[in-house]
Amino acid sequence: MAARRIAVIGAGVLGTALAHRLTEERGTPVEVALLDGERPGHGTSRWSLAWLNSNGKAPRAYHDLGTRSMAAWGRLAERTGGDAWYRPVGNLRWAEEEKGMRRLAERVAWMTAWGYPAELVGRRRIADLEPALELPSDLTRAAWFPQEGYVLTELMIASLVERARAQGADVRSGPAGHVTAVEGEAGGPRVVRTADGGKLETDTVVCCAGRWTPEVSRLAGAPGAGVPIVDPQPPGSSAPALVVRAGPVRDAPLRVLHTPRVHLRAHGADSTQVHLEAGDVAVDLHTPERELDEWATTLLERARSLLPSLRNAEVVARKVCVRPMPPDGLPIVGPAAEAGGPYVAVTHSGVTLAPGLAELVAEELLTGRRHPDLAPFRPERFAPGSAGGE
Ligand SMILES: Cc1cc2nc3c(=O)[nH]c(=O)nc-3n(C[C@H](O)[C@H](O)[C@H](O)COP(=O)(O)OP(=O)(O)OC[C@H]3O[C@@H](n4cnc5c(N)ncnc54)[C@H](O)[C@@H]3O)c2cc1C
Repeated sequence: MAARRIAVIGAGVLGTALAHRLTEERGTPVEVALLDGERPGHGTSRWSLAWLNSNGKAPRAYHDLGTRSMAAWGRLAERTGGDAWYRPVGNLRWAEEEKGMRRLAERVAWMTAWGYPAELVGRRRIADLEPALELPSDLTRAAWFPQEGYVLTELMIASLVERARAQGADVRSGPAGHVTAVEGEAGGPRVVRTADGGKLETDTVVCCAGRWTPEVSRLAGAPGAGVPIVDPQPPGSSAPALVVRAGPVRDAPLRVLHTPRVHLRAHGADSTQVHLEAGDVAVDLHTPERELDEWATTLLERARSLLPSLRNAEVVARKVCVRPMPPDGLPIVGPAAEAGGPYVAVTHSGVTLAPGLAELVAEELLTGRRHPDLAPFRPERFAPGSAGGE
């Protein structure tokens, strides 16, 4: 199925990286369309911690996909002048209890054994790495992962969308990009219909709709069960998470920080805000607003106790977002199992994985050959009666 006209539905980090990659392709003439029902980059990608890592990811094939993609971020940033949004600043992590630190030491040993840069560092080094932090008095050690970092997704997506457009991609957003129907069979010509009454003729449909993948892939011919993700609706679902942005901050953290009570990094082009999350925040799509406000204030207080320059900061935004989570935690990439279904790419850790997946998926779409590195991540593993993989 080597494709000449490719329509990518969803301009989050995945769809944008893929559309951009396809327009970079010099060998095969290809017409690329990128469609989004909102402004590009305003889905989950906008709110992501966007921590680039392959830290503690298993099995090995998933870890390797992560490290490959971290390297792909570096190359992509270099090719596209990504200094404004690519921040390979490293990640510091520590735990409160001795037991937690023991687990972290085991993680460092495991990552090192897999060739992933990781080390335990002492208090003086932590202070050198993060001079603006007021370190807890009993903190003696932290794990340091120097090759990790983060991206500013809004800036990155805006930049890659413009580059793709300049290379000839047909970028449609708002009602003109909101896909309402996909007609035709996979392998034959297809017609994508949009909310403004427009249509687009294409050979291949690629669904990069993140948390909306079940709905969009169903439009394109795959029954929802073919592309399952964790349902965010039931109370207590693990897919929703609270994100808080706060500011102003004068001396923002330099690194990604995973501390026992709050995870944070600098936010914004000029780093005058911080992005905050925490593992113990129990929210779902039904949590009352008042409770969300309380959690947001709690996260800001936790961050303030580490970072004195947040003294005058306030909560600037808070949002419950939905992680697009395949039920087994691994990416789902490839033609949807059912005949007529689209090519699908959906994953948690989508920011980390976007440029690596974009390279592999573009190659598959343009050559029609299945890439062996994607074998563990095929949609077929969820087909009824499947043994769970290729
Ligand atoms: C709180 C939180 C923290 C996270 N932290 C990290 C992290 O640290 N590192 C990491 O790598 N990942 C992280 N993730 C996961 C990561 O953010 C996601 O995997 C990634 O953003 C998904 O990108 P996407 O392009 O698939 O989806 P999205 O960014 O959601 O894009 C999908 C797009 O599809 C569009 N769309 C939907 N329906 C239609 C339609 N009918 N027609 C046209 N367009 C449509 C939407 O408008 C949207 O723009 C986190 C996620 C959350 C929620």
